[in-house]
Amino acid sequence: MPVTQSFIGGRSIPSTETFPNIDPATGKSIGDVARSGADEVDLAVAAARTIQPEWAKTSPEQRSILLTKMADAVTAHRDELARLECEDTGKPLTQAYADVDVCARYFRYYGHCIETYYGITIPMRDDMHVYTRREPFGVTGHIVAWNYPLQLISRAAATSLAAGNAAVVKPADETPRTAVRLAELIVEVGFPAGVFNVVTGLGAEAGAALTAHPGVDHLGFVGSTEVGSLIAHAAADRVVPTVLELGGKSANVVFADADVDAAVPFLVKSILQNAGQTCSAGSRLIVHRDVHDEVISKMAAAFRKTTIGVGVDDPDLGPLISKKQQGRVRDLVAGISRGTVVTGGTIPEGLGDGSFFAPTLIDGVDPSDEIAQQEVFGPVVVATQFSDDDEAVAIANGTDYALLAAAWTQNLSRGHRMAQQLQAGQVYVNTYGAGGGVELPFGGFRKSGYGREKGFEALDAYTQTKTVVMKL
Ligand code: NAD
Repeated sequence: MPVTQSFIGGRSIPSTETFPNIDPATGKSIGDVARSGADEVDLAVAAARTIQPEWAKTSPEQRSILLTKMADAVTAHRDELARLECEDTGKPLTQAYADVDVCARYFRYYGHCIETYYGITIPMRDDMHVYTRREPFGVTGHIVAWNYPLQLISRAAATSLAAGNAAVVKPADETPRTAVRLAELIVEVGFPAGVFNVVTGLGAEAGAALTAHPGVDHLGFVGSTEVGSLIAHAAADRVVPTVLELGGKSANVVFADADVDAAVPFLVKSILQNAGQTCSAGSRLIVHRDVHDEVISKMAAAFRKTTIGVGVDDPDLGPLISKKQQGRVRDLVAGISRGTVVTGGTIPEGLGDGSFFAPTLIDGVDPSDEIAQQEVFGPVVVATQFSDDDEAVAIANGTDYALLAAAWTQNLSRGHRMAQQLQAGQVYVNTYGAGGGVELPFGGFRKSGYGREKGFEALDAYTQTKTVVMKL
């Protein structure tokens, strides 16, 4: 069995202990993963600390050239990376290819941005020259989820490296291979060894060691709200800034004046993409009673047409990440006390030992029900009717999460009102998500997290402001 090993200071580091990398489509092992821990984290942080001051002295132009080369390298290895991502996560091959393309785009985008990222001058008084500098933190630690490994790592690391930090990444236990491949490519294109390091391993071991490490100056976390809270506590103990990208329970609000035929493909994709294992999944459907029956029947028809299978065969829907996740989704659906399961609700038959779950539409839930409040992280959407705009807004804003929201309406004023009233880090009107949305600041309100990744604004999250005051 091939072993995926940590990549630290420009080379692979073997670990004596390993754990299996399970293919979620078959339940079988496709290799072993080095179970690195505190020792490897120490090594990685030391490698990053050693090189970071030198890296920070490179010019924005030099960093830009390397980041752009890395974008080209990702594209040149498109087939290989998509295949690895597809097998590790279970996602359909087309979606894995899209993730590779977005990954390349992050490196290119931040390669471009960093050349136009400046401090400001402040006209305080004629005899004072005042300006700000945006300076790197030093070593940034990144702990990410398994659902979009290439995207999550590149959106954080490209930003961090562009700003002059050095990074240590702990990929999710289930999906280590593309992280390690990115680390190898980063060295191949000419980044100094140690600027980008990957430590494979388990959350409670390698993840916890990275979080607590005194040599880490900034933490970026993408994952569940529960673990995010642990990370924030550990960071607070050391007074280290964090970006927390956490869970969601995002709503599509469909008004009576919506163009239903234009909306339905987005409503479907927003919950079925990556088998619903997307932080920004459109997992709640809040629909005006006048168009309710039409929307439900059109979505149900689309759900029934969905092809389900092994990711590399490129169906519409692949498996969930693990048996554990499959069991969780099944139990949440089985536990509903109100509502009707219009389609799905079960583990589809005849698909072997993979962790599949059928596309599921549950209508008539109460907004307070567990299934309407908790992040299911599966291909499950719950629908609720409303009668007026205020009611729609109250339902949409009525969860602890606030990551994304979308309003579907042909009334321009209503669209703008919704953009103000819907509480979420991103609000869409007559669309949902935006093909990776590299340029769009992304992050949550409330328990969906804090800080922003993506877009120009993310450079602020990965730098600190120094104000310089000079008496003339
Ligand atoms: P998770 O919180 O279980 O794990 C995330 C990462 O944290 C993994 O790398 C894991 O190994 C690590 N980890 C686990 N315990 C740890 C500990 N004690 N100390 C340090 N690290 C630890 O989340 P998951 O199940 O991998 O991912 C699903 C969650 O991620 C969902 O809630 C989803 O919404 C969220 N997510 C959010 C975004 C976003 O940008 N907001 C994007 C993708 C996923």
